[in-house]
Amino acid sequence: MKKAIAPPPPTLAGGPAERLARLADGLRAAAARGGHLPPRVVAVAKTFPAEAVRPFLKAGHRLFGENRVQEAQAKWPALKEEWPEVELHLVGQLQSNKAEAAVALFDAIHSLDRPSLVTALARAVARAGRTPRLFVQVNIGAEPQKGGVAIPELPTLLAQARDAGLPVRGLMCVPPADREPSPYFALLAKLARRHGLEGLSMGMSGDWDIAAALGATHVRVGSALFGAR
Ligand SMILES: *Cc1c(COP(=O)(O)O)cnc(C)c1O
Repeated sequence: MKKAIAPPPPTLAGGPAERLARLADGLRAAAARGGHLPPRVVAVAKTFPAEAVRPFLKAGHRLFGENRVQEAQAKWPALKEEWPEVELHLVGQLQSNKAEAAVALFDAIHSLDRPSLVTALARAVARAGRTPRLFVQVNIGAEPQKGGVAIPELPTLLAQARDAGLPVRGLMCVPPADREPSPYFALLAKLARRHGLEGLSMGMSGDWDIAAALGATHVRVGSALFGAR
């Protein structure tokens, strides 16, 4: 319901290279306003086919995001053969039975949000011998329908991950759709500081500038780059 009344995020003007440049310029300016370094851009390619992604690779972008393991498995192995230096991040919710596939394909996972997933990821990491960078997703607006660990449960989840040998690099959030996002971004930054975590995955097509000003290290931008879904 809330999503349906929110206006669609704007797509940046121009072709892929120009969109990337406008986004980079805007992020640099916004981050500087807040006294921060500009965040990295995770270009979220969900629902877009490989042909839509290729122009962004040709324009020099190398960091991409997907929200579903199966879609990424279908799209990325071929693209990675062509561009081996691609870095792929999972930004969507992860089912425990897909943990092994996710660990095999992704360089970072932004959606660690529950103890059972810590267990599944620890097992998958041990088996695969590779460890994606991990962000814990926080349900920052305490929305019942949304993924993410509840704020009071965050310390326990971080301790569980640490005990399982999984280093958590940062926190991720998706603020409530119909609210001004800055208090939620500021709260996520505060939680990250409190736990000594450097990574802050926050900001999407409609609010990447606000997130950058508040210290995001990664913005996850889909429709502003690829167009409306
Ligand atoms: C789709 C998605 C994004 C990108 O959303 P846009 O509004 O298209 O930029 C970012 N984060 C997550 C978790 C997503 O699922």
